[in-house]
Amino acid sequence: MTNIPEYFGSMVFDEREMKARLSGSVYHSLKQTIRRGERLDASVADAVADAMRAWALERGATHFTHWFQPMTDITAEKHDSFISPAPDGGVILEFSGKELIQGEPDASSFPSGGLRATFEARGYTAWDPTSYAFIKGKTLCIPTAFCAYGGQALDQKTPLLRSMEALNRQAMRVLRLFGNEDVHHVTTSVGPEQEYFLVDKGVYEKRRDLIYTGRTLFGAKPPKGQELDDHYFGTIKPRVQAYMDELNEELWKLGIYAKTEHNEVAPSQHELAPIYTTTNLATDQNQLTMEIMQKVAAKHDLVCLLHEKPFAGVNGSGKHNNWSIATDTGVNLLSPGETPHENAQFLLFLIAVVQAVDEYQDLLRTSVATAGNDHRLGGNEAPPAVVSVFLGDELTAILESLETDAPYSAAEKTVVKLGVHALPRFARDMTDRNRTSPFAFTGNKFEFRMVGSSQSIATVNTILNTAVAESLRQYADELEGAEDFNAALHELIQKAIAGHKRIIFNGNGYDEAWIREATEKRGLSELRTTPDAIPSLIKKKNIELLTTHRVFSEGELRSRYEIALENYSKTIMIEATTMADMARREILPAVESYAAATAEGAAKKLALVPMLKCAYETELVERLTGLTNCIADKTAALERALIAVKETEESVNEAFTIRDIVLPRMAELRAVCDEAETVTAKDFWPFPTYGELLFSVR
Ligand code: ADP
Ligand code: MG
Repeated sequence: MTNIPEYFGSMVFDEREMKARLSGSVYHSLKQTIRRGERLDASVADAVADAMRAWALERGATHFTHWFQPMTDITAEKHDSFISPAPDGGVILEFSGKELIQGEPDASSFPSGGLRATFEARGYTAWDPTSYAFIKGKTLCIPTAFCAYGGQALDQKTPLLRSMEALNRQAMRVLRLFGNEDVHHVTTSVGPEQEYFLVDKGVYEKRRDLIYTGRTLFGAKPPKGQELDDHYFGTIKPRVQAYMDELNEELWKLGIYAKTEHNEVAPSQHELAPIYTTTNLATDQNQLTMEIMQKVAAKHDLVCLLHEKPFAGVNGSGKHNNWSIATDTGVNLLSPGETPHENAQFLLFLIAVVQAVDEYQDLLRTSVATAGNDHRLGGNEAPPAVVSVFLGDELTAILESLETDAPYSAAEKTVVKLGVHALPRFARDMTDRNRTSPFAFTGNKFEFRMVGSSQSIATVNTILNTAVAESLRQYADELEGAEDFNAALHELIQKAIAGHKRIIFNGNGYDEAWIREATEKRGLSELRTTPDAIPSLIKKKNIELLTTHRVFSEGELRSRYEIALENYSKTIMIEATTMADMARREILPAVESYAAATAEGAAKKLALVPMLKCAYETELVERLTGLTNCIADKTAALERALIAVKETEESVNEAFTIRDIVLPRMAELRAVCDEAETVTAKDFWPFPTYGELLFSVR
């Protein structure tokens, strides 16, 4: 396929299709619904469904599905065909407005954190008309929100949409104060940079750890890793290029602006970045991207690994969440403006984000807390577990000048006065050098770098939107009552800077000294692991934030707290069980056979030449036997720990038990197995090594 403009978006029922296929009045009323978030009139729904069906049939679709995003970080779908019996015994193809608007999947097996008992298992899905329908394979997919019968959200999408609305409400109040009358809506946009690994399918299939857990649980360090920095931005190998080409094509057909692709730091690691778009669309599209990455890989006899840490000793994968706020008139509110007036507005929005990150650093940390991401955060390859904001020296100096009314220490040495001075232009590269910061201002957007590669971006953006909405709410409350707007604004910004500058840090986030300063001097929170982080979800101030902005009900939050803990525990329990099983049934027999073969060989040699000194064999058999004894002990210890976990009650205690008892046992078992790998003959080792995995794609 060569004509990109022709096939771009060809599988999406987008604006162009709507305009072409709906009557003027139907199109108009659909747009109104989307804009105002109202319920769709039944006759309009029927007309839209009809047009969608015709469009989908032309593209070979046979089924439709309500596509939704339960709290599993992946998407869900249940297909129904369009067929219906015709009176004459034949078949007609139908799709009604009712089927478009609402679905009732049996939802008893999705995580609900106790929100929904199985006897009232049915949840319902409701069409989200702000996100376009699309065709995947032979199925028309309708993006939907997923709720329990009581209306509680059971998915990632509903709270995200609510948070966008919360931010819109508060941002509009602030904009009106600045005299902005032409803006009607404010939305956030996201560009998620997605990292991933590719491994050869044949090699992958020999590793049960990869199959069951998405990461390697064993593996000695290969002679070559990422030391030479020869992979980052390196030439893309033909097999990988062929994969990327097909991936791009599939994404483009789905209207996803896949833009940038390159090799990442670790061998076999790559990145794909789309052009940013409205947050809910970006979320849908990122879910689709992850899915299609895996599907296309299979066609090339590859497997795409989205886990945060598939391999120990080389970099893991993350997802940089580039986030900004824009008006429906096309103004990026995080972009420094041309005039002093615009700049005052920019600074207010900027400081609103700084305040939000400071006040809700624990919630942001929680939104990226998963078992997989615990391997990255704090590991000197991804940001530390301490949240801080990078603004760059210039912007920081401007804020300092504003706070104290002292001269701004750049070239001109002027005092920055809001509403009076223009800001100097920040060249992009001035603000984008620091890659160790969890939350960096990069010229006209913030880049949140703590997100895990396999995570949905819905939750992080829900938290971010809501926290910023809260800063803006406070500002609007204060400024709406002010007599002298400019004076009040100046004072407000000064107060906000003074109150929240502790979160600003432009130095090296990997530095131990910074972590000490952050936690001891600045009072920032360091939530090292998932069990440390999750309880923040139900802290009083956080419940207050999320409920007052109507993003979560308290019940929904408590259910999410349960689900997050459960996910953590289940993930590690599966890993631990897989480890014990691989140690017992693969590694122990392998090392033992090698020891036995060595002993047998030596015995045969001795039988032939009784005077021989088999020092090598003797030492090796001793060492291998020592190792098998040790592996057996460590496996038993891990198995005992698993039993101890099963006896723990309360999900939070279980998570801590797993972290403190199971994870250390896993590390101990891995260490001796990895040692055994280095002394066991290649032919005996039961599965592909790191060298084979990391350099499997040529
Ligand atoms: P990098 O961070 O690798 O240097 P860029 O900063 O150019 O790359 O872009 C990274 C991502 O940020 C892309 O997905 C891009 O579309 C997105 N992005 C650029 N501008 C914005 C913006 N105003 N709001 C949100 N995302 C943006
Ligand atoms: Mg980036």
